[in-house]
Amino acid sequence: MCGIVAYIGPKNAYPILIKGLKRLEYRGYDSAGVALLNGSLQILKKEGKVSDLENFVAGKSTEGTVGIGHTRWATHGEPCDRNAHPHLSNSGNLAIIHNGIIENYAALKTELELRGYTFESDTDTEVLLNLIEDIQKEEKISTEEAVRVALNEVVGAYAIVVIEKSKPDTLIAARKGSPLVIGIGKGEFFVASDASPIIEYTKNVVYLNDEEFVVLHRDGNIEIKTLGNIQKTPYIQKLEMDLEKIEKGGYDYFMLKEIYEQPQVIRDCMRGRMNAEKGWIKLGGISEFANRINNAKRIIITACGTSWHSGLIAEYLIEELARIPVEVEYASEFRYRNPIVNEKDVVIAISQSGETADTLSAIQIAKDRQALIYGICNVIGSSIARASHAGSYTHAGPEIGVASTKAFSAQVTILTLLALQLAQSNGSISQSRLRQILYELEAIPSKVEGALKTNDKIVEIAKKYKDAKNFLYLGRGLNFPVALEGALKLKEISYIHAEGYPAAEMKHGPIALIDENMPVVFIATNQSAHEKIVSNIQEVKARKGKVIAIVLEGDTVIRGLADEVIEVPETDELLSPLVSIVPLQLLSYHIALMRGCNVDQPRNLAKSVTVE
Ligand code: GLU
Repeated sequence: MCGIVAYIGPKNAYPILIKGLKRLEYRGYDSAGVALLNGSLQILKKEGKVSDLENFVAGKSTEGTVGIGHTRWATHGEPCDRNAHPHLSNSGNLAIIHNGIIENYAALKTELELRGYTFESDTDTEVLLNLIEDIQKEEKISTEEAVRVALNEVVGAYAIVVIEKSKPDTLIAARKGSPLVIGIGKGEFFVASDASPIIEYTKNVVYLNDEEFVVLHRDGNIEIKTLGNIQKTPYIQKLEMDLEKIEKGGYDYFMLKEIYEQPQVIRDCMRGRMNAEKGWIKLGGISEFANRINNAKRIIITACGTSWHSGLIAEYLIEELARIPVEVEYASEFRYRNPIVNEKDVVIAISQSGETADTLSAIQIAKDRQALIYGICNVIGSSIARASHAGSYTHAGPEIGVASTKAFSAQVTILTLLALQLAQSNGSISQSRLRQILYELEAIPSKVEGALKTNDKIVEIAKKYKDAKNFLYLGRGLNFPVALEGALKLKEISYIHAEGYPAAEMKHGPIALIDENMPVVFIATNQSAHEKIVSNIQEVKARKGKVIAIVLEGDTVIRGLADEVIEVPETDELLSPLVSIVPLQLLSYHIALMRGCNVDQPRNLAKSVTVE
């Protein structure tokens, strides 16, 4: 993961790098550092957040019109000053920032050590840099050529930027498996892991492809080549990102802002893709492959984390509405288990960032076996979007909070539309039922607004249960994945152990955990399972567990049983996850806040998991 940013041009690089790193901090925050070229090659780096780096740098000189910056999510070597990027080569002539993992670093390191190289850090990155230096010296070639040769020797994933003390007029960057965007300004270039550090300077960008590298010259010249040394013409695209959308907009945390954005996000996600009155749905990104998708005999959904939970919801929706068999797989398992996939299958890959390494590899496997890939991503131009044959963007806007909220709702919205479109095209839904659901879908943003009104009540509940050591989340049917997602939110940001389970499975194990200290959150908004879930609540109460129930407005039965109830507006049961998830997001947010946790940047996590 990690965020990288680089600048070359007439301005002072340091403020641009720092601002960029703050925008990229969601990608990792174990340490931060910059390297600046100003006659000498100056490296400033510190364990901790970008603000720790700023404090450390305060009062020091930060001259230099070319520079690189990094915010780390450690994979090799503990988070500490020594392992922070940028790293310096043995001669002191080269500096590097790196996002990813060099898998064969150990063998390369041993070889380099035998040749007399020494290492300051435990990172794989420093090995790559010295490999570049060694090749450059041994073969007496330019640094860019040495970068190319070295990258042909390494196994793994990377986005790197290299600067050279003796060449203050060039920046070299390359990628394979980790994202990299180049911003093209007037007489200046930017490089970053995503477009957020670039947006306020230029809207013209080039997305570097896998196994390509670029040399950016101060005179405005840009050269792109493949690692096989084939010249490429830069394809310049216009960014459609809004700076305002990536700032906090009056909220204390991005996560809270993003939770509150959900009504609008769902509206944006549906816009132009459906019309309840006329009874149509049209996901534009599938037109070319509509026939294959509509006639799919089997759908495999692959994803990680929260996206995997939206995949589980989609399994219920697609099977219920379109009667097509669906399998949902963790991408990390799918990619390593020789799955049976063929040209008759449609594989749906879901990823907020569109850069999730495991999901990308899962796509590759499915593609090699001729399956059609349908990508659902939030980040436009991301690797998964580009690796897919067809797809739909969620249009949720930048999601900065590490714990996903609005991207989840947008994914579920898209998947609902997809399920309905498949059902319509294969005739498994009547036109009147279709319109009924579409009308309900149109009303979802206002129902999510209703669910957001539970906030004050949730603050009270959070106060009572914030010190619990464990939580259980239970739901049936479509609310089972919602339970999983609710538990994941709590784990991620409050560090309380939480488990999601199908409510009926409780008696096969988790019931043993229940005592008077165990809060059990029931997601009981699906009417069809109401009686059953009431029985499950009774079972928990009989063991003195504390029941927090998410129910439909006016549910007096559960009100009479539960310790706490949170009422949300009723909708069509198939759409209920979009409403039921909201109080669970808020509950985790408030508990985490009360426990003094950093809600937007939980420990050990990063937003976009571009490593295996
Ligand atoms: N593997 C490198 C390290 O551990 C880079 C990790 C990252 O992407 O931040 O330092």
